[in-house]
Amino acid sequence: MTLEELKSEMSALGEKSFRAKQMYEWMHVKLAEDFGQMTNLSKELREKCQGEYSYTGLKPLRVQESQTDGTKKFLFELSDGNTVESVWMRYKHGNSVCISSQVGCRMGCAFCASTLDGLERGLLPSEMLEQVYAITRLTGERVSNVVIMGTGEPLDNYDHVVKFIRLLTDENGLHISQRNITLSTCGLAPQMRALAGEGLQITLALSLHAATDEKRRQLMPIANRYGLDELMEACAYYFEKTGRRITFEYSLLSGVNDRREDAAGLIRLVKPLNCHVNLIPVNPVKERDFRPTAQEDVIAFKNKLEKNGINVTIRREMGRDIDGACGQLRRQALKE
Ligand code: SAH
Repeated sequence: MTLEELKSEMSALGEKSFRAKQMYEWMHVKLAEDFGQMTNLSKELREKCQGEYSYTGLKPLRVQESQTDGTKKFLFELSDGNTVESVWMRYKHGNSVCISSQVGCRMGCAFCASTLDGLERGLLPSEMLEQVYAITRLTGERVSNVVIMGTGEPLDNYDHVVKFIRLLTDENGLHISQRNITLSTCGLAPQMRALAGEGLQITLALSLHAATDEKRRQLMPIANRYGLDELMEACAYYFEKTGRRITFEYSLLSGVNDRREDAAGLIRLVKPLNCHVNLIPVNPVKERDFRPTAQEDVIAFKNKLEKNGINVTIRREMGRDIDGACGQLRRQALKE
């Protein structure tokens, strides 16, 4: 619930509206784990809430810590027994959490482990928030950046994701800066346009992975629905409405999209936009046949883009030794 919703809920219970403010602070600032911890509320109110409302909690089932970079991967159990994974990464500029937005995914990208078993359901705003809150409690450190890049397609769970972002960035809550939030999508053009109109200052990342419709359709089924022209127009619109530079994610798959003509196509495609390209060496997934591009070829690809005036970075790989890529930990746990 937003603070406003909580206020009307409290007044329906006959409580004063400052109770809502106190309760909201327990939930979103002090990160209480249940109503019982809210010690400045009357015992009567706490018990009433415990009886009549549900309070989202996630049970940490597994934690894996990378021996090389300290990245931690968490597998959480939801109240219905489903599991989701989230990743905590420590950077010089602060701690970043990568959250899941759905249980599974129905987008079917050819290189991704998260989609192998299809979609179970979208996550509630509270279940997304709680990934950030639980990790804050477990690590004892503040989270400054959140990327919605874990399992699931966030724009396929649009209303819940937008509400989650509003709660996460609310000044009465944890108050994470909107500029420190990135939402990654495989390219649902209408929802990208809708997001542009939400009045948010978050970064939109588009998973491109190919510079022609033909090649993109081989990798990403969603490309059959929305072509590159439509996506680029949606990106330009997002920039126009928000002033936020677009990020394009491009996973390099050896022999598939990493050749000279692929770089040239990518340059032509993104050059007109105010953007940033993030190259990702593909994370090999057992069930899939893709191999990562060799390091020197990644650098050559990057150099080509740079020579053409495009902002480009190579994503630092973290947590490779702990199944860092989308969906791999959950899958392994499911199998076991
Ligand atoms: N559904 C959203 C967000 C989740 S995936 C999206 O598609 O953008 C986050 C990013 O990781 C996407 O760019 C996705 O294409 C990429 N990705 C998925 N599996 C990968 C793999 N095995 N190696 C490298 N990148 C991968």
